[in-house]
Amino acid sequence: MTSARRRKRWAKHLSSIASIAIFCLFPACQSQTQSSESGSNPVPMDVKSEVKPEVKPTAISAKPSGDPEPMLERIPSSPAQLVDLQAIDPRIRLDIRYATTNNFLKQKVYPVSRCLLRWAAAEKLIKAQTELAKQGLGLKVYDCYRPLSVQKQMWQVLPDDRYVANPANGSRHNRASAVDLTLVDRTGKELEMPSGFDDFSQRSHLGYQGGSQAAQKNRRLLVDTMQRHGFLPIQTEWWHFDVKGWQDFPILDIPLDAASLTVDRSKN
Ligand SMILES: [Zn+2]
Repeated sequence: MTSARRRKRWAKHLSSIASIAIFCLFPACQSQTQSSESGSNPVPMDVKSEVKPEVKPTAISAKPSGDPEPMLERIPSSPAQLVDLQAIDPRIRLDIRYATTNNFLKQKVYPVSRCLLRWAAAEKLIKAQTELAKQGLGLKVYDCYRPLSVQKQMWQVLPDDRYVANPANGSRHNRASAVDLTLVDRTGKELEMPSGFDDFSQRSHLGYQGGSQAAQKNRRLLVDTMQRHGFLPIQTEWWHFDVKGWQDFPILDIPLDAASLTVDRSKN
């Protein structure tokens, strides 16, 4: 397949993908920001009410061979739009830990393994992935958008704000503007890091100088790459990044399985 044809095909995929999961567009959400995180009623009214987003099934094709770079400029979108990362860029691997029992809660708290993010974050992540791919590396995400109701569930299991954000304030994951992730090689194998995901010890801190030199170097590469593409690290968790401007996006409580995608292979 010629590169022009491949680009054309991607543009077609992406323009259709862009129509999915339009849960929360800017004008409807902008009035709900910081104020929602204080007081006894942290949930914005437009979120607390039953949200039943209208989501049209979207035809996407299977992962194309050759992993062409998505043509980002062809996606018409608001930065606040919630998108399904894997549908937009299948190069980025998923290991959504809270959809399994392989997490510090030892409980499955997500009904599906899915990475939903604000377009503002997804777009930057795709660019980071593209940069890493040139070095034979890639990204694997552990957690993306987390509904507020799940935050409350986590708090019930472990009401300790050293480990879980208090739902009264909300987590940046509740705003779909934070991502937990690591680096993988070409085969999807995780690169060594100073600690595992959700290891709440000193080893998770960015200032931790222990561990192997390779782990230090890999953590540096992850942090530098993410910062170059508009993400902010936090000092206590090497895997966590907030997109710049996360404050602009309100807390949401839309279920992770609210939208379904239809994979239409006939479009290949
Ligand atoms: Zn996180």
